[in-house]
Amino acid sequence: MTLDDTLEAAARAARPWARADRAAALKNVAEAIDAAADELIPLAHEETRIPEARLRGEVARTTFQLRLLAEETASPAVVDEADPEWPPGPRPKLVLARRPIGPVLVFAASNFPFAFSVAGGDTASALAAGCPVMLKAHPGHPRLSEATGEIVRAHVPDGVFGVISGEEEGRAALLDPRIKAGAFTGSPAAGRALFDLAASRPDPIPFYGELGSVNPVFVTGAAATARGAEIAAGYVDSFTMGAGQLCTKPGLFVVPAGAGLGELAAERVREVAAAPLLNDRIATGYATALGALTGHDQVRTLVDGGDAPTLLVTTAAAVTAHRDALAVECFGPASLVVEYSTESEMLDVARSLDGQLTGTVHAEGDEPLVAELVDELAEHVGRVVWNGWPTGVAVTRAMHHGGPYPATTAPLHTSVGTAAVDRFRRPVAFQNVPDGVLPA
Ligand code: NAP
Repeated sequence: MTLDDTLEAAARAARPWARADRAAALKNVAEAIDAAADELIPLAHEETRIPEARLRGEVARTTFQLRLLAEETASPAVVDEADPEWPPGPRPKLVLARRPIGPVLVFAASNFPFAFSVAGGDTASALAAGCPVMLKAHPGHPRLSEATGEIVRAHVPDGVFGVISGEEEGRAALLDPRIKAGAFTGSPAAGRALFDLAASRPDPIPFYGELGSVNPVFVTGAAATARGAEIAAGYVDSFTMGAGQLCTKPGLFVVPAGAGLGELAAERVREVAAAPLLNDRIATGYATALGALTGHDQVRTLVDGGDAPTLLVTTAAAVTAHRDALAVECFGPASLVVEYSTESEMLDVARSLDGQLTGTVHAEGDEPLVAELVDELAEHVGRVVWNGWPTGVAVTRAMHHGGPYPATTAPLHTSVGTAAVDRFRRPVAFQNVPDGVLPA
C-alpha cells in the first residue's frame, strides 16, 4: 500500500470505527499480544538489547494498558437542561459531547518497544477514543514493529490501523489533511521539529509530543541525616534502571553539601555493571551529551564509568547560573549530584527549572521549607513524587505523565493513564438539538 492508500483507508475507516465495539477489539489485541509474547520478546531483545525479563514486564504493562483503555471507549455527555432563570440570561439546553478527532499519526518511541511503541499507550488511547491510527515505526525495532503491527491489524477493521516507516513518510503523513492529530515520544529536537511541522499546516493540528526531562530530586538536610544511605542507594538504582534510558530518569540529585550523599552514591555506582544502550544513535547522543557535561568547568567527575554508569557533581549555584548547560537530559546511565549550602540555594535550583515530567522530594515532612519546595516544583513539573522515585509510571486514572514545555508540547495532557484518551476527543456542544436528532 502507498502512503496515500493508507491515509485514504484511515480516513474512510474513521466514521465506522467511531461507532464500532472498540472495547472488544482492544481486548482482543491485548489477548493476541499476550499469546504471542514468546515470539515477540526474543525479537525485541535482538533489536533493542533490552533484557528479556524487563521486556516481559513491559508486555504485561502494554496489554494491561490496552485492557484498561478498553474501559474508556464511552465518553458520557454533559447535559445542562434549559433554564429560563439562569443568570445573566436564560440558558438553552446544551449537551456537551466528545467526538473522535479523526485519524491520528503516532510516532513510536525507541526505549519502550512495546509500551510506547506500535501497540503502546498512544495507539491504545487513540483507538479507544475512536480514532484510526497511522503508526510511524521507530527504526530501532523494525521487525518487532512489523510483527506487532500485524497483530493489531488483525483485530481491527480494515483501514483502522496502518504502519509506515522512514522520516520522510512520517513528515508527509503529518502534513496530510487526512491526519487530525499527532502523538510522539522521543528527543526534544525531533519533537520540536514535528510540532513546528504540525503547526505549519494550513490547518494546524494538535501535536502531543513528550520530549525530554531531567527529573530533579531534592533531598532536605533532615532526610539526609535520617536516611542518607537509603536515599543514595535508591537514587542510583533509579538513574541506572534501563541503562538510564527512561524519560523519568533522575538526572539531578540536589543534596546538602557535606552530608556525604554524593560519596555514598558513588560507592554504589561503582558496583553497577555496564549494560548495552538501545542502538548506535542513542549511544552517540549519550556520548555527546555526557561529553558536554563532563567538559563543563563547574562539573567534577565522581565516577567515570566508561560503558558503566557515570556520576558527576556540581554546585547548586552553578546549576542556577548555567541551567541550559547543566540541567540537560543525558539519555543514558549518568546523573549529576548538585550540592547546596543553604536551603535558599536549593529553592533557587527549583525556581530555575524549565518544564519537567517529574520532580521528587525526599523530606521528613516537618521541615519549614518543604511546602514551599513542593509548591515551587508543582509550578514546573507534571508529577511531584514524595519520598520515592520517578521511574515507574503507574497506568491509572490519576496519573499525569506530562508537564510544561520542553517536557511536552502540550502541558494540559498526559500520555499515560486513562486521561490520555481525552487528547483524541474533540468537544462539541449541541444547543437545543432534539434527543431524536442527537448523534448516538
Ligand atoms: P528521536 O531521534 O527523537 O526519533 C523519534 C522519532 O522521530 C523517529 O521515528 C524518527 O524517525 C522521528 N524523527 C526524528 N527527527 C525527525 C525529523 N526531523 N523529522 C521527522 N521525523 C523525525 O528519538 P530516538 O531515536 O528514540 O532517541 C534519540 C533521543 O531521544 C535520545 O537520545 C533521547 O534523548 C530522546 N528520547 C527521549 C524519550 C522520552 O521519553 N522523552 C524517549 C526516547 C528517546 P526516523 O528515525 O525514521 O528518522
